[in-house]
Amino acid sequence: MSTATTATGSAPSRAYLDLLEATTRRRALAFEPLTSTHTGAPEAAAAAVRRAAAEGRDDVATLAGVVHDLAEVAFEEHASVAAIADLLTRHGIEVETGTHSLATSLSARVGLAPGDGGTGTIAIVAEYDALPGIGHACGHHLIAASATGAFLALAAQARDLPGEVVLLGTPAEEGGSGKELLWREGFFDGVDAAVMLHPFSYDVVDHPFLGRRQLVVTYRGVAAHASAQPFMGRNALDAAALNYQAVGLLRQHLPPSDRVHGVVREGGDRPSIVPELARLEYYVRSAHPETLRDLSRRLEDVAVGLALTALDWLHDGELRAAAVADFEAAGGVVDVEGYFA
Ligand SMILES: [Zn+2]
Repeated sequence: MSTATTATGSAPSRAYLDLLEATTRRRALAFEPLTSTHTGAPEAAAAAVRRAAAEGRDDVATLAGVVHDLAEVAFEEHASVAAIADLLTRHGIEVETGTHSLATSLSARVGLAPGDGGTGTIAIVAEYDALPGIGHACGHHLIAASATGAFLALAAQARDLPGEVVLLGTPAEEGGSGKELLWREGFFDGVDAAVMLHPFSYDVVDHPFLGRRQLVVTYRGVAAHASAQPFMGRNALDAAALNYQAVGLLRQHLPPSDRVHGVVREGGDRPSIVPELARLEYYVRSAHPETLRDLSRRLEDVAVGLALTALDWLHDGELRAAAVADFEAAGGVVDVEGYFA
């Protein structure tokens, strides 16, 4: 067996990023300061919160480091949640974890609940999951720590709060849509407004937010010896490769803010075996529900179209009919597992 060949990509040019940063700096300088008809908290209360935040600084920095080093992936953030819960408990705050069918959800509340005459409920949202292999590249450890720190600073003034503040820990933001799962189960019920901090690689004055869906496409072919009887095989990896190409071509004809990015999850075992199964996973993002729906449908069409092309649905009338029937029964030759959520 000869040795494998590997290559590392060179660093992409910073030119476009530099332009973005320059634009952001220009816009930030020209930005009109935000004003409001509300005067905000009385100075004494604001000063007390700032003081509490300053006192908690070391705890918050430590928590960020702990969550960063744990680097637990979606739905498995057990130790990260325990670290947050531990800090809250040390401040005498009651914490609930593992509610609403997700073992790594977290909630804590202080202040005056609406039922007790409070003026409303504001949620501070914490995320804490990392990416597999790469760790906390998105900075969710900073979200966890800043949310917990902000909550604790307000908790220190709990007796003077006119309303309720809740800390909501939402698992699985790097794939898994933790917030959506929890929202469906009522985790956010009663919340009037929610705030969260998300780090970024440069300052952003106004950041566009895109809705996201996940699509898993599974192609099932027919295994065969790739040298002795390749003509008896139907190659699931071919369907996946063409699907990936087709999505690439589709990009030219998408609205500018749409995003589609995918990986090949499975693509065969040995070069000598025509791959019987291949699986792709895509994240599909768009700025509006209508355009997200449109983009989702187009990717579904690509998935089915490539099954027709690469897996030979049209070759044999009987096979095709059976395959379509199987597909329609959701367990057939092509299995579009459907959009997650
Ligand atoms: Zn993130």
